[in-house]
Formats: sequence, structure tokens, C-alpha cells
Amino acid sequence: MADDHDGTRCVHAGLPEPVPGEPFLPGPVFAAPYHLDPWAGPATAPNGYGRPDNPTRRHLEAAIGELEGGQCRVFATGQAAITGLLLTVLRPGDTVVLPTDGYFPVRSFATDTLAGIGVRVLFAPTAGPYPDLDGVRLVLVETPANPGLDVVDVPALAARAHAAGALVAVDNTTATPLGQCPLDLGADLVVASGTKALTGHSDLLLGYVATRSADLLEAVTGWRTITGAVPGPFDAWLAHRSLATLDLRLARQTANAEALARLLVARPDVTGLRWPGLPDDPAYAVASVQMRRMPGVLSFDLGDAERVARFLDAARLVAAATSFGGLHTTADRRAQWGDDTAPGFVRLSCGVEDTVDLVADVTAALDTAGR
Ligand SMILES: *Cc1c(COP(=O)(O)O)cnc(C)c1O
Repeated sequence: MADDHDGTRCVHAGLPEPVPGEPFLPGPVFAAPYHLDPWAGPATAPNGYGRPDNPTRRHLEAAIGELEGGQCRVFATGQAAITGLLLTVLRPGDTVVLPTDGYFPVRSFATDTLAGIGVRVLFAPTAGPYPDLDGVRLVLVETPANPGLDVVDVPALAARAHAAGALVAVDNTTATPLGQCPLDLGADLVVASGTKALTGHSDLLLGYVATRSADLLEAVTGWRTITGAVPGPFDAWLAHRSLATLDLRLARQTANAEALARLLVARPDVTGLRWPGLPDDPAYAVASVQMRRMPGVLSFDLGDAERVARFLDAARLVAAATSFGGLHTTADRRAQWGDDTAPGFVRLSCGVEDTVDLVADVTAALDTAGR
């Protein structure tokens, strides 16, 4: 229902009509081929073959589509969704604008694969300035950007892009559909990794594309069927099951991020703290207008790799791990993955532990890590 609030929307998203004797969320349907009508063939049934057709996946797509306010197609991973979207929309000779400070493998894909097939790739920092968009086919932004957490004013950028005839896609991984609704802000497409906060249990990989355009949806669907990067039914089912608690998880993660941001900003041994919910943060002015809630992720600098290691070793509640948005608090020194961040740069993802415990643990770990 349009008037329902976030918790209610998450609990009900994508569920079939109640049928006595049936479960709330039907279990995963495991099938490669399905039985066909010997006379009519595939035309008369919704399921013929598992790559295009799976009912578990359709329930999940209905759920994410409801939350994003569009139609959704899920992919095996976020990277499959992003590369699928780029290759669906872009043709040799087209120009695409990508973030300089966004998800690192997307930049690698652009400079290797896209440039290799004759797509002109321009880069712009998330917070701008953006180049002249005349002749641009697609602007892909990541807001807040991973890992630096800058944001871009989506309505303003979409107005500029549309005036120039360009499409706008927003990577909504960090915010999730409860954190911001890019399609309402003027984006043509949403693309995201569902591996992170959306599903939040650190136990599956998922990606999706959402749009209100029937043409774009058809093109994306065709791309996915022909290239085949679909999630399996068990992962789709686990993801749908996890969506029900998205509102609750984000509420605790955001509260934890706010408490840690206040702790870290006051410590002289921590520099470069970024969290878009802090009034002094450069992203705050735009984020507080276009975002419905702040992410549970923050970033900061501890100076060098050894000090980050001492901090992680001392922390009881902060696991050293990449990715973010899970139930468990994690922190990642991004430079160890060949990212172009500073050696002491840390992305910390707040889990759903009790705030008081997390603040105490991070305080003690920083004290132990010393200077
Ligand atoms: C993780 C991530 C991706 C890639 O998602 P996978 O599910 O790991 O393939 C894309 N964009 C952003 C912003 C991400 O954080």
C-alpha cells in the first residue's frame, strides 16, 4: 500500500496473496527445465526454462520493485547487474560518464572492456564538477559513493542529463531503496548490489536493475536471458526472506554509525572522517535533502596499514572483512585490494550490535592501537 511505512513495506514486499495452507513466502523452486504441455509448448505456462523463468526470482523482483518504485530484474551479483546495464545501454561510439571515486571494479571494466569496444569513457568525481553532457548516452552515479561517501544532487544532475538527452542511472547499493528513491529523484535506472545492506546477512551475492521504462526493462531482461547471469533460487529466496528485516537492520546500523561518527570526529588520532549524516560533512547539505535515512557505513583514515591492523586486532566487535551492510560490524582497509585509496583509509560498516557495546569496543581498540 502506498501509505504504508518502511517496516510494513519491507515485511509485505513481494509476497503472494494469502492462500490457506500455503506459506507466507513460498520456498525456493529448484528447476532447470519445467514440464511443458506436449501440445501447446512453452506458450501457455509461465515457466519453461530456468534462465528466463523462475517463480522464486519473480517474487524477489516484485519485492525489490515495490521498494524501488519501479520494475526490477535481479542478477547473480551487483557487478553482473552493472556490467549488464552498461552493455545493454551503450554501443560503440557512445559516451558514458562514470564516477572517479566509485566502486573500483566498475572503473576497471570501463577502461578495459568498454573502451576496448569503442565506448568513450569520461570520469567525474561524485560531488562534481560534471563535464558537458551534450552527446553523452548514460551518466552512472554512485551516491553515496563507495568507499569515500560523497554524494551528488540527483534531481539537479538528472535535469542536466535529460536536457542533454542522456540517461541517468544511480547505484543505490550504499543507500538501499529505504535510504533514497532514485526513480523519484529523476533517475531513469537504479542499479545496485543486493549483497550489501539490502540483504544484510553476509551470506549471498545479488544484484539488480530497476526502472519505470518498459523499453529499458525489456532490454535489460533480454540482456540477462542472453548472457545468463541469474541468481539461483536458493539465493533469491534467502534474499527475499532477509528483506523483511531491512527497516529494522538499517535503523540500528544508522544509529550505530551516528554514534561512531560522533566518537571518531572527536578523536585527534582519527582523520578524514566521512559520514553524510554529520552536519559538518561536505555531503550533508545534499544528503539530508535527498536521502530518507543515512547509511550505516563511514570512512576514515588511521594513517598507515600497521595502525589499521593493530586496531582490527584489538577490536572484539569489528571483524576485518571486505563488503559492507551486514549484521556484523566489519572494517576494510581498502588499499589492500589494490584500490587507489590511502594506505590507512578504512571503510567501517556498522552491524546491528548494541550501540553502547560497539562504541566501547571501538574506543578501546583505538586506544590499544595507539598512534
Ligand atoms: C559491492 C558493490 C558492487 C558490486 O556488487 P557485487 O554484488 O559484489 O558484485 C557495486 N557497486 C557498489 C557501490 C558496491 O558497493
